[in-house]
Amino acid sequence: MAETCHACGANAKGTYVCAYCGVLTHQMESIEDQRRALDEYHAAVSKADELGRKSLFKTGFLPDHKALVIEAGLRMVPFIEFAGTGDDATGRLEAISLKLKLMPTDAETTKAISEFEERIKAQRRADRNFTTGLTIVILAIIGALLWVFAKRCG
Ligand SMILES: [Zn+2]
Repeated sequence: MAETCHACGANAKGTYVCAYCGVLTHQMESIEDQRRALDEYHAAVSKADELGRKSLFKTGFLPDHKALVIEAGLRMVPFIEFAGTGDDATGRLEAISLKLKLMPTDAETTKAISEFEERIKAQRRADRNFTTGLTIVILAIIGALLWVFAKRCG
């Protein structure tokens, strides 16, 4: 396979997906093909470093078959709690959740969507709490500095 990835220009080393950005490098016809592509995608994710994962999560392909879309979502869950790649992993889970919403829903899809959205919300909430905590600490430091400064001048 000498051809390069049409999306990022890397040497497309994988059979189905680019190991660098995760886009499909080959057309998939059957569910088996999609499953193999998803396996290959996650093999690339597990080998990649933090930066590599970020781009794999941002641009990685999503399967079309419903059961595999759900599986793709489940396989993202362990990644969304990591600080370094959590945002991008959550972004991918959001895309997965959206893709499921656009499909004809049944009990299984509805359940999967609500599970995924719960995780997404929890992650966003954790982000917000961290930002709020940081703001309070910074304001406290500024306050302390102003107090020290005021005492010195006064
Ligand atoms: Zn690529």
